[in-house]
Amino acid sequence: MWKWQTLLWTALLSTDVITAQTVPPKFRVVALAEAGGIHRPFVDAAKIWLKQEAQAGQFSIDYIEDTAPINEEFLSRYQLFIQLNYPPYGWKPAAVAAFEKYIEQGKGGWIGFHHATLLGEFDGYPIWPWFQNFMGGIRYKQYIRTFVSATVKVEDPAHPVMRGVDLSFQVKDEEWYIYDKSPRPNVQVLASVNEDSYQPSSEIKMGDHPVVWTNPNYKARNVYIFMGHRPEHFQNPNFTKLFHNAIQWAAQPLPRVLAFYSAQTEFDHVQFANQAIGHFREAAKKDSFQFETTTNWDDLNTANLAGYQLVLWLNDSPHNQAQRDAFQKYMSGGGAWLGFHAAAYNDKDTHWPWFVDFLGGAVFYSNNWPPLPAKLRVDGGSHPVTAHLPAAFTSPANEWYLWKPSPRLNQNIKVLVTLDPSNYPIGFKDTLTEGDLPVVWTNTKYRMLYLNMGHGDKIFTDKTQNLIFEDALLWLLNQ
Ligand code: ZN
Repeated sequence: MWKWQTLLWTALLSTDVITAQTVPPKFRVVALAEAGGIHRPFVDAAKIWLKQEAQAGQFSIDYIEDTAPINEEFLSRYQLFIQLNYPPYGWKPAAVAAFEKYIEQGKGGWIGFHHATLLGEFDGYPIWPWFQNFMGGIRYKQYIRTFVSATVKVEDPAHPVMRGVDLSFQVKDEEWYIYDKSPRPNVQVLASVNEDSYQPSSEIKMGDHPVVWTNPNYKARNVYIFMGHRPEHFQNPNFTKLFHNAIQWAAQPLPRVLAFYSAQTEFDHVQFANQAIGHFREAAKKDSFQFETTTNWDDLNTANLAGYQLVLWLNDSPHNQAQRDAFQKYMSGGGAWLGFHAAAYNDKDTHWPWFVDFLGGAVFYSNNWPPLPAKLRVDGGSHPVTAHLPAAFTSPANEWYLWKPSPRLNQNIKVLVTLDPSNYPIGFKDTLTEGDLPVVWTNTKYRMLYLNMGHGDKIFTDKTQNLIFEDALLWLLNQ
């Protein structure tokens, strides 16, 4: 009997020790690489490097040698899929379906090397059209079988994947695939190879020749890196920096933004909401966030809001107490809000004191009519929301709201943009003649920003003003 107890104790103790020493990984990676073949040395070197990288970055990595294990359940365990050495053909049907969903729905990120653009008819398999689109609509044409060295030029040094990578660097002895056309019109090019720098020179050229890119038309963060043939790449600090950055970037899910609006409200406000949706859909591709919209204000509930890093109100505010309570809880818990124009409208009948305080005490007082352009003065200076704006600019036609009291009087409020008093009197039917009229402000107690713009179909017609919409959103997401 005592022997069993001793054994049990030993088992419990060792379990404890293991638990204490195991730090849960920050994220899980699966890497797909064919066994053997001519790329075996690259894969072997990658595995050694990735092992160190996983230890330093506290992530886990599993390897598979073919697509047989891939299905939805399998992929749901991983935040990042690395196609280390595997072509985009001959995948099992279940793997195809699960992978397409994984990338389209942004369930995890993807990094592909080299063979991932082997798009065409190979080994008796047809082309995989979905994957062809994912790679920018290209078809593989040829490669430099004699291997040449070349200079790679970074095109987007501000992109997280390119940070710290030399603006131009040498890559030794690569095969440099060429395609039927450049993927550039369909992707965001991060780096390209200078074909004139080939050593020795080669006639196999395609002109514009991207070698590292990401396709912003998919929810998954994704990076294709052409270089992936030789183990010596892992001795190239620019290559390892690129790979390191790509892992850290692609393993993080895209931030999610949810825009609320009402389709059954003042026509000019609906018009603005529809244009705003188009505008932010484009911004989402460029600035890497997921953008969703809803006209159902009951989506303003705690369970749903937990999935979003930022909420937009384009032309309206909550319709009942439950929605108001959920929003208050979300903002008090560190959520972020960007409100436009009618979203902040409140008067004596609103009866929502928390919201008035959230706005800095601002209660709607009056407006100009018809909507008119106005000169705006930038108070924010180097604030991230106004950093790209000149000291003053003309804002396209809008209905300007005057607030009493002015939110500027509240010590928690920072006003970033103000209607210039030189506009007074403004309006014909309804005229504003005087008063402090803050147009953009933030309550420093919250991650929030209010913009008075949001009436009619002219709001997005000014390139200067458009900068503030993008910067506002990025500031709220990155705080
Ligand atoms: Zn309006």
